Amino acid sequence: GKAKKAGKQAKKAVNKAAVLGAGIMGGGIAYQSAYKGTPIIMKDINDQALDLGLTTASGILTKQVERGRMDAKKMAKVLNNITPSLSYDSVKDVDVIVEAVVENPKVKTAVLAEVEDIVADDAIVTSNTSTISIDLLAKDLKRPENFCGMHFFNPVHKMPLVEVIRGKDTSDETVAAVVAYAAKMGKSPIVVNDCPGFYVNRVLFPYFAGFSHLVLEGADFTAVDKVMEKQFGWPMGPAYLLDVVGIDTADHCTGVMSAGFPTRMAKLENDPVSTLYSNERYGQKNGKGFYDYG
Ligand code: NAD
Repeated sequence: GKAKKAGKQAKKAVNKAAVLGAGIMGGGIAYQSAYKGTPIIMKDINDQALDLGLTTASGILTKQVERGRMDAKKMAKVLNNITPSLSYDSVKDVDVIVEAVVENPKVKTAVLAEVEDIVADDAIVTSNTSTISIDLLAKDLKRPENFCGMHFFNPVHKMPLVEVIRGKDTSDETVAAVVAYAAKMGKSPIVVNDCPGFYVNRVLFPYFAGFSHLVLEGADFTAVDKVMEKQFGWPMGPAYLLDVVGIDTADHCTGVMSAGFPTRMAKLENDPVSTLYSNERYGQKNGKGFYDYG
């Protein structure tokens, strides 16, 4: 049901946004919002992190210019739409917050509570969490009706999907405004309920588990990838995809899925993904996972 009606109803339109966290995702989200014409403040806790976020955004832009898909004038305009900031003051008047700080429930709950106190009563607050329950993140918020998940995929500028995750108290107005903002960003939003794995990971992780079983039964992972790529026609096989996702992220997510669905997604003993993780092979991000990268 629609619980407490403490705050004002969420805004209907998003004209100004802020992203908290200027990491891989924050930088991508800032780029995408700015590129599609919604000015965005990018807030982090130190200068180095902000520089990294700006580098992500300008890196995507530079590539577009090099490929002749954008001129320098448009690039300057997009960059001008991103305001880096170290202070919460700058986010006071935004219509929507996209929280994209580290995947840690304690940090996220603290950040969400802090920012809720600063924005207007009718501002929308969202989280880009991949694995944390939206209801858990909403637990101590004063206006849970104005809160939902807004889950982008990496790389943000290339992946069309955004999962809009509705918690038990999320209002229809909030969902509608976030769906509209995602569409304005040029994305294809879907609305899903709050559950472990949301939509994509509920489909993807059983597939990864199937792959892990095959490897444990003796299959050569390169052969599995080859079949899925060359014969079945998918853009990449499971081993390569796991390297792209990140072995650390995948291992963490496997744990969340097995905790959420203990029977269907029972924890696999000697899961090759966990073995790689304990050997510090994190995938493409550190140059070694299932495969080695130059
Ligand atoms: P990241 O480590 O690259 O970036 C996190 C950023 O948050 C860092 O710049 C850090 O300085 C900043 N930060 C930490 N505490 C903060 C605070 N209190 N206020 C402001 N900024 C703070 O992480 P990422 O990969 O960009 O992931 C961010 C979120 O997006 C996580 O919840 C993650 O689960 C989710 N996500 C990640 C991916 C992915 O593939 N990387 C995909 C979808 C969703």
